[in-house]
Amino acid sequence: MYRIAVASFSHETCTFCPNITTLEAWEAGGMDYGEDALDYTGRGRSYVTGYKEVAEGYDDVELVGILRPGRPRTVGMGSWLTTEAFDVITGRIVDGIEAEMPVDGVLLALHGAMAVSNVPRPEAEICRRVRKVVGYDVPIMVTLDLHACEDEELSNITEGVFILKTYPHLDGHEIGVIAAKCIIETIRGDFKPAMACRKPGVISASVYQASEYHPMKTVYDRCREWEAKGVYCASVAPGFAYADVPDAGASVFVVTNGDHALAEEAAQDISDLIRELREDLTRPLPKAKDGVANVIKMVKEGTKPIVIAYHDDRLGDGTHVFKELLKQGATNFCTTSIADTEVLNGLARDHKVGDTVTVTIGGWVHPISGEPVKVTGRIEWLGPADWVETGPMGRGAERHDDLVASLDLGDNRHVVVSERLRAPMSSDPLKAIGLDVDSFDIVEIKSRVHHKAFWDTWSAVDYPVDPPGTTPADLSTLEFKHLPWDIYPIGEKWKK
Ligand SMILES: [Zn+2]
Repeated sequence: MYRIAVASFSHETCTFCPNITTLEAWEAGGMDYGEDALDYTGRGRSYVTGYKEVAEGYDDVELVGILRPGRPRTVGMGSWLTTEAFDVITGRIVDGIEAEMPVDGVLLALHGAMAVSNVPRPEAEICRRVRKVVGYDVPIMVTLDLHACEDEELSNITEGVFILKTYPHLDGHEIGVIAAKCIIETIRGDFKPAMACRKPGVISASVYQASEYHPMKTVYDRCREWEAKGVYCASVAPGFAYADVPDAGASVFVVTNGDHALAEEAAQDISDLIRELREDLTRPLPKAKDGVANVIKMVKEGTKPIVIAYHDDRLGDGTHVFKELLKQGATNFCTTSIADTEVLNGLARDHKVGDTVTVTIGGWVHPISGEPVKVTGRIEWLGPADWVETGPMGRGAERHDDLVASLDLGDNRHVVVSERLRAPMSSDPLKAIGLDVDSFDIVEIKSRVHHKAFWDTWSAVDYPVDPPGTTPADLSTLEFKHLPWDIYPIGEKWKK
Protein backbone atom coordinates (compact mmCIF):
# COMPACT_ATOMS: atom_id res chain seq x y z
CA MET A 1 0.00 0.00 0.00
CA TYR A 2 1.10 3.56 -0.74
CA ARG A 3 0.28 5.67 2.31
CA ILE A 4 -0.26 9.43 1.92
CA ALA A 5 -0.49 11.61 5.03
CA VAL A 6 -3.12 14.38 4.85
CA ALA A 7 -3.23 17.45 7.09
CA SER A 8 -4.94 20.84 6.93
CA PHE A 9 -3.90 24.11 8.53
CA SER A 10 -5.52 27.13 6.97
CA HIS A 11 -5.79 30.79 7.89
CA GLU A 12 -6.27 33.99 5.90
CA THR A 13 -4.71 36.45 8.32
CA CYS A 14 -5.74 40.09 8.24
CA THR A 15 -2.77 41.70 9.95
CA PHE A 16 -4.62 45.05 9.92
CA CYS A 17 -7.45 43.58 12.01
CA PRO A 18 -7.30 44.13 15.77
CA ASN A 19 -7.32 40.72 17.53
CA ILE A 20 -4.39 38.30 17.49
CA THR A 21 -5.14 34.63 16.85
CA THR A 22 -4.07 32.58 19.84
CA LEU A 23 -3.76 28.86 20.48
CA GLU A 24 -6.84 29.18 22.71
CA ALA A 25 -8.84 30.60 19.78
CA TRP A 26 -7.79 27.61 17.65
CA GLU A 27 -8.61 25.14 20.42
CA ALA A 28 -12.05 26.75 20.82
CA GLY A 29 -12.66 26.18 17.10
CA GLY A 30 -12.03 22.44 17.55
CA MET A 31 -9.45 20.02 16.14
CA ASP A 32 -10.06 16.74 14.34
CA TYR A 33 -7.38 14.05 14.43
CA GLY A 34 -6.75 10.86 12.49
CA GLU A 35 -9.67 9.44 10.49
CA ASP A 36 -11.93 12.29 11.70
CA ALA A 37 -9.71 14.78 9.85
CA LEU A 38 -10.77 13.11 6.57
CA ASP A 39 -14.51 13.06 7.33
CA TYR A 40 -16.33 15.77 5.36
CA THR A 41 -19.90 14.70 6.09
CA GLY A 42 -22.04 17.85 6.15
CA ARG A 43 -19.10 20.07 5.19
CA GLY A 44 -19.49 20.35 1.42
CA ARG A 45 -16.62 19.84 -1.04
CA SER A 46 -13.02 20.78 -0.40
CA TYR A 47 -9.43 19.98 -1.30
CA VAL A 48 -9.61 16.89 0.90
CA THR A 49 -12.77 15.50 -0.74
CA GLY A 50 -10.81 15.80 -3.98
CA TYR A 51 -7.84 13.90 -2.50
CA LYS A 52 -10.25 11.20 -1.33
CA GLU A 53 -11.99 10.83 -4.68
CA VAL A 54 -8.68 10.18 -6.43
CA ALA A 55 -7.32 7.84 -3.73
CA GLU A 56 -10.50 5.73 -3.88
CA GLY A 57 -9.75 5.09 -7.57
CA TYR A 58 -6.58 3.16 -6.66
CA ASP A 59 -6.50 -0.22 -4.89
CA ASP A 60 -3.05 0.41 -3.49
CA VAL A 61 -3.40 3.97 -2.11
CA GLU A 62 -4.48 4.82 1.40
CA LEU A 63 -4.95 8.32 2.85
CA VAL A 64 -3.82 8.74 6.45
CA GLY A 65 -5.64 11.54 8.27
CA ILE A 66 -3.43 13.56 10.60
CA LEU A 67 -5.07 16.83 11.68
CA ARG A 68 -7.74 19.33 10.66
CA PRO A 69 -8.11 22.40 12.89
CA GLY A 70 -11.50 24.12 12.73
CA ARG A 71 -11.92 27.85 12.28
CA PRO A 72 -10.36 29.74 15.19
CA ARG A 73 -12.84 31.64 17.36
CA THR A 74 -11.90 35.28 16.81
CA VAL A 75 -13.79 38.54 16.41
CA GLY A 76 -13.86 39.15 12.66
CA MET A 77 -11.07 37.55 10.65
CA GLY A 78 -8.37 37.30 13.27
CA SER A 79 -5.02 39.04 13.11
CA TRP A 80 -1.46 37.66 13.52
CA LEU A 81 -1.21 34.11 14.77
CA THR A 82 0.94 33.88 17.86
CA THR A 83 4.21 31.99 17.45
CA GLU A 84 2.89 29.55 20.05
CA ALA A 85 -0.28 28.77 18.06
CA PHE A 86 1.77 28.11 14.94
CA ASP A 87 4.44 26.02 16.69
CA VAL A 88 1.96 23.89 18.60
CA ILE A 89 -0.39 23.15 15.69
CA THR A 90 2.47 22.57 13.23
CA GLY A 91 4.04 20.37 15.91
CA ARG A 92 0.88 18.26 16.07
CA ILE A 93 0.99 17.78 12.29
CA VAL A 94 4.68 16.84 12.37
CA ASP A 95 4.26 14.48 15.35
CA GLY A 96 1.18 12.95 13.75
CA ILE A 97 3.10 12.21 10.55
CA GLU A 98 6.07 10.89 12.50
CA ALA A 99 3.80 8.45 14.34
CA GLU A 100 2.50 7.18 10.98
CA MET A 101 5.92 6.71 9.35
CA PRO A 102 6.75 5.35 6.92
CA VAL A 103 4.51 7.37 4.58
CA ASP A 104 5.03 7.63 0.81
CA GLY A 105 3.73 11.17 0.34
CA VAL A 106 2.25 14.17 2.13
CA LEU A 107 -0.70 16.26 0.98
CA LEU A 108 -1.19 19.53 2.86
CA ALA A 109 -4.41 21.54 2.50
CA LEU A 110 -3.18 25.02 3.39
CA HIS A 111 -4.37 28.53 2.57
CA GLY A 112 -1.25 30.57 1.86
CA ALA A 113 -2.15 33.87 3.55
CA MET A 114 -1.30 32.85 7.09
CA ALA A 115 0.73 35.49 8.95
CA VAL A 116 2.58 34.49 12.11
CA SER A 117 4.63 36.55 14.56
CA ASN A 118 8.31 35.71 14.03
CA VAL A 119 7.66 33.30 11.13
CA PRO A 120 7.94 35.21 7.84
CA ARG A 121 6.72 32.42 5.50
CA PRO A 122 4.52 30.08 7.55
CA GLU A 123 3.42 27.66 4.80
CA ALA A 124 6.99 27.09 3.64
CA GLU A 125 7.96 26.64 7.31
CA ILE A 126 5.24 23.98 7.82
CA CYS A 127 6.64 22.11 4.81
CA ARG A 128 10.23 22.44 6.09
CA ARG A 129 9.26 20.95 9.44
CA VAL A 130 7.36 18.10 7.73
CA ARG A 131 10.36 17.56 5.44
CA LYS A 132 12.63 16.99 8.43
CA VAL A 133 10.46 14.01 9.38
CA VAL A 134 9.76 12.45 5.99
CA GLY A 135 13.11 13.15 4.32
CA TYR A 136 13.81 14.15 0.71
CA ASP A 137 12.55 11.00 -1.03
CA VAL A 138 8.93 11.53 -0.02
CA PRO A 139 7.00 14.09 -2.12
CA ILE A 140 5.17 16.90 -0.32
CA MET A 141 2.46 18.65 -2.32
CA VAL A 142 0.20 21.49 -1.20
CA THR A 143 -3.13 22.97 -2.23
CA LEU A 144 -3.68 26.68 -1.66
CA ASP A 145 -6.35 29.35 -1.84
CA LEU A 146 -5.79 31.92 -4.59
CA HIS A 147 -5.36 34.53 -1.86
CA ALA A 148 -2.07 32.85 -1.02
CA CYS A 149 1.04 34.98 -0.46
CA GLU A 150 3.92 32.70 -1.39
CA ASP A 151 7.24 32.71 -3.19
CA GLU A 152 10.04 30.35 -4.20
CA GLU A 153 10.66 29.31 -0.59
CA LEU A 154 7.52 27.19 -0.97
CA SER A 155 8.43 25.80 -4.39
CA ASN A 156 11.93 24.97 -3.09
CA ILE A 157 10.66 22.78 -0.26
CA THR A 158 7.75 21.03 -2.07
CA GLU A 159 7.30 18.95 -5.23
CA GLY A 160 3.97 20.51 -6.21
CA VAL A 161 1.95 23.67 -5.48
CA PHE A 162 -1.65 23.74 -6.74
CA ILE A 163 -3.88 26.79 -6.34
CA LEU A 164 -7.62 27.41 -6.75
CA LYS A 165 -8.53 28.61 -10.25
CA THR A 166 -11.89 30.24 -9.45
CA TYR A 167 -12.90 33.26 -7.39
CA PRO A 168 -15.61 32.79 -6.04
CA HIS A 169 -13.85 29.66 -4.80
CA LEU A 170 -15.84 26.82 -6.30
CA ASP A 171 -13.08 24.40 -7.23
CA GLY A 172 -11.43 23.27 -3.99
CA HIS A 173 -12.44 19.67 -4.77
CA GLU A 174 -11.11 19.89 -8.34
CA ILE A 175 -7.76 21.30 -7.19
CA GLY A 176 -7.61 18.50 -4.62
CA VAL A 177 -8.07 16.04 -7.50
CA ILE A 178 -5.24 17.64 -9.51
CA ALA A 179 -2.85 17.53 -6.52
CA ALA A 180 -3.74 13.96 -5.51
CA LYS A 181 -3.33 12.61 -9.06
CA CYS A 182 0.04 14.29 -9.27
CA ILE A 183 1.37 12.94 -5.99
CA ILE A 184 0.13 9.39 -6.62
CA GLU A 185 1.65 9.29 -10.12
CA THR A 186 4.85 10.76 -8.67
CA ILE A 187 5.02 8.08 -5.95
CA ARG A 188 4.48 5.39 -8.59
CA GLY A 189 7.28 6.86 -10.69
CA ASP A 190 5.03 7.86 -13.61
CA PHE A 191 5.34 11.62 -13.04
CA LYS A 192 8.47 13.70 -12.42
CA PRO A 193 7.29 17.06 -11.13
CA ALA A 194 9.20 20.11 -12.39
CA MET A 195 8.04 23.39 -10.88
CA ALA A 196 8.73 27.06 -11.62
CA CYS A 197 7.72 30.06 -9.49
CA ARG A 198 7.51 33.78 -10.31
CA LYS A 199 6.57 36.92 -8.38
CA PRO A 200 5.19 39.59 -10.75
CA GLY A 201 5.55 42.31 -8.07
CA VAL A 202 1.88 43.40 -8.01
CA ILE A 203 -0.36 43.63 -4.94
CA SER A 204 -4.13 44.05 -5.36
CA ALA A 205 -7.30 44.11 -3.25
CA SER A 206 -9.51 41.00 -3.34
CA VAL A 207 -12.42 43.00 -4.80
CA TYR A 208 -10.56 43.21 -8.16
CA GLN A 209 -9.76 39.52 -8.42
CA ALA A 210 -12.98 37.81 -9.61
CA SER A 211 -11.92 35.05 -11.98
CA GLU A 212 -14.76 35.48 -14.48
CA TYR A 213 -14.08 39.19 -15.05
CA HIS A 214 -11.25 41.24 -16.49
CA PRO A 215 -8.42 41.51 -15.51
CA MET A 216 -8.08 38.11 -13.78
CA LYS A 217 -10.09 36.29 -16.47
CA THR A 218 -7.40 37.28 -18.96
CA VAL A 219 -4.75 35.80 -16.66
CA TYR A 220 -6.64 32.56 -16.01
CA ASP A 221 -7.37 32.15 -19.73
CA ARG A 222 -3.61 32.35 -20.35
CA CYS A 223 -3.02 29.65 -17.70
CA ARG A 224 -5.49 27.35 -19.47
CA GLU A 225 -3.68 28.00 -22.78
CA TRP A 226 -0.40 26.81 -21.21
CA GLU A 227 -2.16 23.74 -19.86
CA ALA A 228 -3.42 23.01 -23.38
CA LYS A 229 0.24 23.21 -24.50
CA GLY A 230 1.42 20.51 -22.09
CA VAL A 231 1.73 22.19 -18.68
CA TYR A 232 0.23 19.89 -16.00
CA CYS A 233 -1.10 22.77 -13.87
CA ALA A 234 -0.56 26.53 -14.15
CA SER A 235 -1.53 28.25 -10.89
CA VAL A 236 -1.88 31.94 -10.09
CA ALA A 237 -2.55 33.44 -6.70
CA PRO A 238 -3.38 37.14 -7.06
CA GLY A 239 -2.75 37.16 -3.29
CA PHE A 240 -4.23 38.58 -0.10
CA ALA A 241 -3.31 42.23 0.32
CA TYR A 242 -4.20 42.41 4.01
CA ALA A 243 -1.46 40.15 5.26
CA ASP A 244 1.57 42.39 5.71
CA VAL A 245 4.16 39.75 4.89
CA PRO A 246 7.42 39.74 2.89
CA ASP A 247 6.05 37.37 0.21
CA ALA A 248 2.90 39.47 -0.37
CA GLY A 249 1.55 40.09 -3.86
CA ALA A 250 0.69 37.86 -6.78
CA SER A 251 2.53 34.59 -7.35
CA VAL A 252 2.69 32.08 -10.17
CA PHE A 253 3.45 28.35 -9.78
CA VAL A 254 3.69 26.08 -12.82
CA VAL A 255 4.03 22.29 -12.58
CA THR A 256 5.03 20.14 -15.56
CA ASN A 257 5.88 16.49 -15.96
CA GLY A 258 9.66 16.64 -16.14
CA ASP A 259 9.91 19.69 -18.44
CA HIS A 260 11.78 22.41 -16.53
CA ALA A 261 12.14 24.67 -19.56
CA LEU A 262 8.38 24.61 -20.23
CA ALA A 263 7.61 25.36 -16.58
CA GLU A 264 9.97 28.34 -16.58
CA GLU A 265 8.67 29.70 -19.89
CA ALA A 266 5.02 29.46 -18.85
CA ALA A 267 5.62 30.97 -15.39
CA GLN A 268 7.53 33.91 -16.88
CA ASP A 269 4.84 34.55 -19.51
CA ILE A 270 2.00 34.51 -16.96
CA SER A 271 4.00 36.73 -14.61
CA ASP A 272 4.66 39.25 -17.40
CA LEU A 273 0.93 39.32 -18.22
CA ILE A 274 0.02 40.13 -14.58
CA ARG A 275 2.53 42.99 -14.65
CA GLU A 276 0.99 44.34 -17.86
CA LEU A 277 -2.46 44.32 -16.23
CA ARG A 278 -1.32 45.97 -13.00
CA GLU A 279 -3.34 49.21 -13.40
CA ASP A 280 -6.59 47.28 -13.96
CA LEU A 281 -5.91 45.40 -10.72
CA THR A 282 -5.80 48.64 -8.70
CA ARG A 283 -8.50 51.01 -10.07
CA PRO A 284 -10.44 53.27 -7.58
CA LEU A 285 -13.97 52.46 -6.26
CA PRO A 286 -16.73 54.81 -4.92
CA LYS A 287 -16.98 55.55 -1.18
CA ALA A 288 -20.14 54.77 0.83
CA LYS A 289 -21.93 58.13 0.38
CA ASP A 290 -21.49 58.41 -3.39
CA GLY A 291 -21.91 54.68 -3.88
CA VAL A 292 -25.24 54.52 -2.04
CA ALA A 293 -26.46 57.68 -3.87
CA ASN A 294 -25.65 56.02 -7.21
CA VAL A 295 -27.42 52.81 -6.22
CA ILE A 296 -30.59 54.67 -5.13
CA LYS A 297 -30.53 56.59 -8.43
CA MET A 298 -30.19 53.37 -10.45
CA VAL A 299 -33.10 51.78 -8.57
CA LYS A 300 -35.28 54.84 -9.25
CA GLU A 301 -34.42 54.56 -12.93
CA GLY A 302 -35.49 50.90 -12.94
CA THR A 303 -32.15 49.10 -12.70
CA LYS A 304 -32.81 46.66 -9.86
CA PRO A 305 -32.32 44.65 -7.75
CA ILE A 306 -28.81 45.72 -6.80
CA VAL A 307 -26.30 44.07 -4.49
CA ILE A 308 -24.03 46.50 -2.65
CA ALA A 309 -20.78 44.70 -1.90
CA TYR A 310 -19.44 46.32 1.27
CA HIS A 311 -16.16 44.64 0.64
CA ASP A 312 -13.82 45.85 3.35
CA ASP A 313 -15.62 45.20 6.65
CA ARG A 314 -13.83 42.12 7.98
CA LEU A 315 -14.87 42.82 11.57
CA GLY A 316 -18.59 42.66 10.79
CA ASP A 317 -19.55 45.72 12.84
CA GLY A 318 -19.19 48.24 9.97
CA THR A 319 -22.07 50.71 9.65
CA HIS A 320 -20.97 53.01 6.81
CA VAL A 321 -23.33 51.63 4.14
CA PHE A 322 -26.30 51.01 6.48
CA LYS A 323 -26.04 54.58 7.77
CA GLU A 324 -26.09 56.00 4.22
CA LEU A 325 -29.05 53.80 3.20
CA LEU A 326 -31.05 55.20 6.14
CA LYS A 327 -29.86 58.78 5.70
CA GLN A 328 -30.49 58.88 1.95
CA GLY A 329 -34.02 57.45 2.30
CA ALA A 330 -33.59 54.06 0.64
CA THR A 331 -36.54 51.63 0.92
CA ASN A 332 -36.97 47.91 0.11
CA PHE A 333 -33.50 47.05 1.36
CA CYS A 334 -31.82 44.52 3.57
CA THR A 335 -28.55 45.09 5.42
CA THR A 336 -27.62 41.45 5.86
CA SER A 337 -25.12 41.63 8.74
CA ILE A 338 -24.19 44.01 11.48
CA ALA A 339 -22.21 42.00 14.01
CA ASP A 340 -23.10 43.06 17.54
CA THR A 341 -23.06 40.31 20.17
CA GLU A 342 -23.97 42.60 23.05
CA VAL A 343 -27.14 43.97 21.41
CA LEU A 344 -28.06 40.50 20.21
CA ASN A 345 -27.71 38.97 23.68
CA GLY A 346 -29.71 41.88 25.14
CA LEU A 347 -32.53 41.23 22.67
CA ALA A 348 -32.52 37.51 23.50
CA ARG A 349 -32.55 38.25 27.24
CA ASP A 350 -35.25 40.94 27.35
CA HIS A 351 -37.41 40.57 24.23
CA LYS A 352 -39.33 38.31 21.89
CA VAL A 353 -40.44 38.31 18.27
CA GLY A 354 -43.05 41.03 17.70
CA ASP A 355 -41.61 43.49 20.22
CA THR A 356 -40.73 46.97 19.03
CA VAL A 357 -37.26 47.95 20.23
CA THR A 358 -34.79 50.82 19.96
CA VAL A 359 -31.19 49.64 19.76
CA THR A 360 -27.82 51.10 18.88
CA ILE A 361 -25.93 48.67 16.66
CA GLY A 362 -22.46 48.24 15.16
CA GLY A 363 -19.35 50.38 15.31
CA TRP A 364 -17.95 48.84 18.46
CA VAL A 365 -14.91 46.76 17.48
CA HIS A 366 -12.78 49.44 15.84
CA PRO A 367 -13.22 53.17 15.02
CA ILE A 368 -12.71 52.39 11.31
CA SER A 369 -16.08 50.56 11.31
CA GLY A 370 -18.00 53.87 11.64
CA GLU A 371 -20.36 55.23 14.29
CA PRO A 372 -22.92 52.99 15.98
CA VAL A 373 -26.41 53.48 14.47
CA LYS A 374 -29.59 53.95 16.53
CA VAL A 375 -32.68 52.31 15.02
CA THR A 376 -36.22 51.51 16.09
CA GLY A 377 -37.89 48.45 14.64
CA ARG A 378 -40.01 45.38 15.21
CA ILE A 379 -38.23 42.13 15.96
CA GLU A 380 -39.17 39.76 13.11
CA TRP A 381 -36.66 36.98 13.92
CA LEU A 382 -34.82 36.19 17.14
CA GLY A 383 -33.19 32.84 17.74
CA PRO A 384 -31.01 30.20 16.09
CA ALA A 385 -31.03 29.64 12.34
CA ASP A 386 -30.37 26.41 10.43
CA TRP A 387 -30.19 25.79 6.73
CA VAL A 388 -28.55 23.64 4.10
CA GLU A 389 -26.67 25.70 1.55
CA THR A 390 -28.13 25.27 -1.95
CA GLY A 391 -26.08 28.03 -3.65
CA PRO A 392 -22.86 27.33 -5.55
CA MET A 393 -20.61 28.29 -2.59
CA GLY A 394 -20.45 25.35 -0.18
CA ARG A 395 -23.42 23.57 -1.76
CA GLY A 396 -24.75 20.87 0.53
CA ALA A 397 -23.09 22.22 3.69
CA GLU A 398 -25.21 22.29 6.83
CA ARG A 399 -25.10 25.74 8.38
CA HIS A 400 -26.08 26.90 11.84
CA ASP A 401 -26.15 30.19 13.74
CA ASP A 402 -26.61 30.03 17.49
CA LEU A 403 -28.37 33.38 17.56
CA VAL A 404 -29.41 35.91 14.94
CA ALA A 405 -31.99 38.72 14.88
CA SER A 406 -33.76 40.58 12.12
CA LEU A 407 -35.41 43.96 12.65
CA ASP A 408 -38.19 45.34 10.45
CA LEU A 409 -37.65 49.10 10.29
CA GLY A 410 -40.76 49.83 8.15
CA ASP A 411 -40.94 50.64 4.40
CA ASN A 412 -39.61 47.12 3.76
CA ARG A 413 -36.26 48.07 5.34
CA HIS A 414 -34.56 45.29 7.27
CA VAL A 415 -31.34 44.88 9.22
CA VAL A 416 -29.89 41.58 10.41
CA VAL A 417 -27.96 41.63 13.68
CA SER A 418 -25.50 38.73 13.93
CA GLU A 419 -22.94 37.41 16.39
CA ARG A 420 -20.11 37.74 13.89
CA LEU A 421 -19.79 38.68 10.24
CA ARG A 422 -22.55 36.79 8.43
CA ALA A 423 -22.18 37.23 4.69
CA PRO A 424 -24.96 35.36 2.86
CA MET A 425 -23.40 33.33 0.02
CA SER A 426 -26.91 32.78 -1.37
CA SER A 427 -30.45 33.77 -0.36
CA ASP A 428 -30.65 30.67 1.91
CA PRO A 429 -29.37 32.32 5.13
CA LEU A 430 -31.88 35.17 4.62
CA LYS A 431 -34.78 32.85 3.82
CA ALA A 432 -33.83 30.80 6.90
CA ILE A 433 -34.77 33.79 9.06
CA GLY A 434 -38.00 34.51 7.20
CA LEU A 435 -36.91 37.36 4.93
CA ASP A 436 -38.71 37.81 1.60
CA VAL A 437 -35.59 38.23 -0.52
CA ASP A 438 -37.35 38.89 -3.82
CA SER A 439 -39.14 41.93 -2.34
CA PHE A 440 -35.83 43.81 -1.98
CA ASP A 441 -34.45 46.40 -4.39
CA ILE A 442 -31.14 46.58 -2.53
CA VAL A 443 -29.26 43.89 -0.60
CA GLU A 444 -26.12 44.97 1.24
CA ILE A 445 -23.61 42.13 1.65
CA LYS A 446 -20.26 42.29 3.43
CA SER A 447 -18.31 40.35 0.85
CA ARG A 448 -15.93 40.98 -2.00
CA VAL A 449 -16.38 38.30 -4.64
CA HIS A 450 -17.67 35.02 -3.13
CA HIS A 451 -21.26 36.23 -2.97
CA LYS A 452 -21.24 36.79 -6.73
CA ALA A 453 -21.47 33.04 -7.42
CA PHE A 454 -25.13 33.19 -6.38
CA TRP A 455 -26.07 36.86 -6.19
CA ASP A 456 -24.97 37.72 -9.75
CA THR A 457 -27.76 35.38 -10.88
CA TRP A 458 -30.25 37.37 -8.75
CA SER A 459 -29.19 41.00 -9.14
CA ALA A 460 -29.14 43.36 -12.10
CA VAL A 461 -25.94 44.96 -10.81
CA ASP A 462 -23.24 44.03 -8.31
CA TYR A 463 -21.98 47.35 -6.94
CA PRO A 464 -18.80 47.34 -4.83
CA VAL A 465 -18.22 50.32 -2.54
CA ASP A 466 -15.06 51.22 -0.65
CA PRO A 467 -15.96 52.77 2.72
CA PRO A 468 -13.26 52.95 5.37
CA GLY A 469 -12.51 49.44 6.65
CA THR A 470 -9.73 47.11 7.68
CA THR A 471 -9.39 45.74 4.14
CA PRO A 472 -9.85 48.71 1.74
CA ALA A 473 -9.53 48.69 -2.05
CA ASP A 474 -7.18 51.65 -1.78
CA LEU A 475 -4.13 49.96 -0.26
CA SER A 476 -2.28 53.27 0.10
CA THR A 477 -4.46 53.95 3.17
CA LEU A 478 -2.80 51.08 5.05
CA GLU A 479 0.59 51.18 6.74
CA PHE A 480 2.64 48.17 5.62
CA LYS A 481 5.97 47.28 7.22
CA HIS A 482 7.09 44.10 5.47
CA LEU A 483 6.40 44.58 1.74
CA PRO A 484 9.07 44.28 -0.97
CA TRP A 485 10.31 47.83 -1.79
CA ASP A 486 9.35 47.63 -5.47
CA ILE A 487 5.88 46.04 -5.26
CA TYR A 488 3.29 47.88 -7.40
CA PRO A 489 1.50 50.20 -6.53
CA ILE A 490 2.44 50.81 -2.89
CA GLY A 491 6.07 49.74 -2.42
CA GLU A 492 8.58 52.47 -1.50
CA LYS A 493 9.68 52.65 -5.14
CA TRP A 494 6.25 53.93 -6.27
CA LYS A 495 5.76 56.54 -3.52
CA LYS A 496 5.78 60.08 -4.86
ZN1 LIG B 1 -9.62 33.20 -0.83
